Amino acid sequence: MAFYPGENMVYNDQTQPEAEDFSINIEWSEGNVSVSVATETVSQSFTEGEAVYAKTAVKDALYILFSRLTGKTLPWGTLTGIRPTKIPMAMLENGAGDEEILRHMEDELLVSPEKSLLALDIARREKSLLEKLDYDRGYSLYIGIPFCPSRCLYCSFTAYPISVFHDQVDSYLDCLEKELMFTAEFFRDRKLNTVYVGGGTPTTLLPYQIDRLCDIVEKNFDLSDLLEFTIEAGRPDSLDEEKLSAIKRHRVDRISINPQTMKQETLDIIGRYHRVEDVVRVFKQARSMGFDNINMDLIMGLPDESIDDVRHTMEEIKKLGPDNLTVHSLAIKRSSRLNLEREKYASYAYENTSEQMELTARYAAEMGLKPYYLYRQKNMAGNFENVGYAADGKAGIYNILIMEEKQSIVACGAGATSKAVFKNGRIERAENVKDIKSYFERIDEMIDRKRALFSQE
Ligand code: SF4
Repeated sequence: MAFYPGENMVYNDQTQPEAEDFSINIEWSEGNVSVSVATETVSQSFTEGEAVYAKTAVKDALYILFSRLTGKTLPWGTLTGIRPTKIPMAMLENGAGDEEILRHMEDELLVSPEKSLLALDIARREKSLLEKLDYDRGYSLYIGIPFCPSRCLYCSFTAYPISVFHDQVDSYLDCLEKELMFTAEFFRDRKLNTVYVGGGTPTTLLPYQIDRLCDIVEKNFDLSDLLEFTIEAGRPDSLDEEKLSAIKRHRVDRISINPQTMKQETLDIIGRYHRVEDVVRVFKQARSMGFDNINMDLIMGLPDESIDDVRHTMEEIKKLGPDNLTVHSLAIKRSSRLNLEREKYASYAYENTSEQMELTARYAAEMGLKPYYLYRQKNMAGNFENVGYAADGKAGIYNILIMEEKQSIVACGAGATSKAVFKNGRIERAENVKDIKSYFERIDEMIDRKRALFSQE
């Protein structure tokens, strides 16, 4: 077996060792597994006869071995899944105490004490927030608007340039209306708990298109159980007073205005063609219009950003005082420009450190924001996580639902994926096609896919 550390990670390419250096031998017998690399060997015992325990023993042995060889440990230990808080959440639901949960995270999953505490803290907060929901009868609605002002360097979402696709947006809304009308009718006996309009950048829609979309939701769905209606405004270069006014005319109670960084040079490199001042201007405008739940997204590990740049960004964000802050660690996605054009961007440093993550957590605390959801992705800078912080009463419930998978989410629009969560915990998905032309041509098939998925509930 050959092991390639950091495979697919752009920033590791120059230092990638030869594959022969990493020949691994695995041997096992009667409840014991032995893993060797070069001169190092680690043995782990497991419950005999249970394949799942043998697999975990190999994973633990490999982790311990590579920690020894490299002198490094990973903040999340042997956990590779994207939802680490599901573990403490499940244990809390089964009546486990804090000590038992932390022991399991640290001793068996080899998670650092800081991350174990963070995961437990978040799981507790999520649990109390989700207690308001009726999992069986409730559901959430996602609406995807797959257009953007330009494509960011790290993006792998469905995002078509609005400058090219602007004359197709009305037809897109026609199809979306059809899908939403089906959903409203099919789920008429269920409780709609959250609506999330994402993308893409939903505010690439013109004011009359924003009105049309919100009207479709408000006139066709029963909103009496609605806890949250988010529109991810996202890019400041897609927003102006007219669009904010259009949003304000409706039931929307949470928006995002995402700077990612407050360093202009970085914005230029990552292809977000707006000024730092635009973020400040649009944020202040939204506040003055009465938006009292605004999220801001940031990314750690952006090209050539140092801890001083992060400190500067956090100082600027603190002056604005958002109600939610989501701190992402840069993840190198296969279909992103950062991966596809890796040579062009290879000279930059992509560094995320525990100091940076701790700095953002400290600033969040100073702003009165507490961590309330967390997820991880493959190939993240520094192997850290994405953390959402919120002021009391302002947490994004939809974000928690996505992570904890407690409730079905019906997703409409090109590239959107619906998720049915069954009573026994089984989860199934139905995907919509990403390509706009195919979405137009196959809209009835997308509706049939939804009907087939949710008829099983
Ligand atoms: S604004 Fe968001 S969805 Fe659009 S290209 Fe940038 S990262 Fe992707």
